[in-house]
Amino acid sequence: RESWASDSSDSVISSGSDSDGSLYKVILLGEHGVGKTSLARIFGGVEDGAEAEEAGNTYDRSIVVDGEEASLVVFDIWEQVLAAQRFSLRTDRRFAPKNVYQWNDTGWLFIARWCSKSVCLLLFQDDSQWLQNHCMKMGDAYIIVYSVTDKVSFEKASELRIQLRRARQTEDIPIILVGNKSDLVRSREVSVDEGRACAVVFDCKFIETSAALHHNVKDLFEGIVRQIRLRKDSKED
Ligand code: GDP
Repeated sequence: RESWASDSSDSVISSGSDSDGSLYKVILLGEHGVGKTSLARIFGGVEDGAEAEEAGNTYDRSIVVDGEEASLVVFDIWEQVLAAQRFSLRTDRRFAPKNVYQWNDTGWLFIARWCSKSVCLLLFQDDSQWLQNHCMKMGDAYIIVYSVTDKVSFEKASELRIQLRRARQTEDIPIILVGNKSDLVRSREVSVDEGRACAVVFDCKFIETSAALHHNVKDLFEGIVRQIRLRKDSKED
């Protein structure tokens, strides 16, 4: 297992902000069941279910990459965003709002429980695309996850890349395509080459991970920091 403990120079130190004061928002996208929550939990240092409950769907952590500290907030909210659109929130029993605040004439802010997680949603009645678009716009970087054992999730990853490109047309945002569940060798449906080729077409980075074995997860989040920095540095030049 990879260790993020303080025995290496590239280690997690504390929550806080980057040396220039910025906090990078990283959004996880991908089909249900591909391993988004598992990856986010490893990043957040949450190893068992009880703690995860407390942590909600965002994971805030500082990591040292190439000798410099960076603060990331990882959002595992994509499925709630999709779910919010699939159901009528105020009538669906599975969605139990704890607090609902009127935001403005057309929107509400929900603090709610969804599939035993706490979620905070800003929902606009007249614009069901709003949340999805917001998600596509709010991130400093994106991790698009598919499962190497699920071809459909791989195809969906391409759709998400297209959706993201549409939402951020002129921007060069850091994206990493992740083929998760690389440990499940015998049920593999997507080869490493297919994943790599897809990343070339979509002009993004690629990595295969196994959340189950904690393999490459550290590299993934360090990679995201490097991608963010690369773009920031080239903007400053
Ligand atoms: P999400 O719906 O994308 O958030 O996916 P989850 O993180 O909830 O994972 C869905 C299921 O796949 C869970 O049963 C996980 O334990 C399992 N899983 C996630 N990542 C891996 C992995 O790398 N290898 C294996 N074998 N199982 C995984």
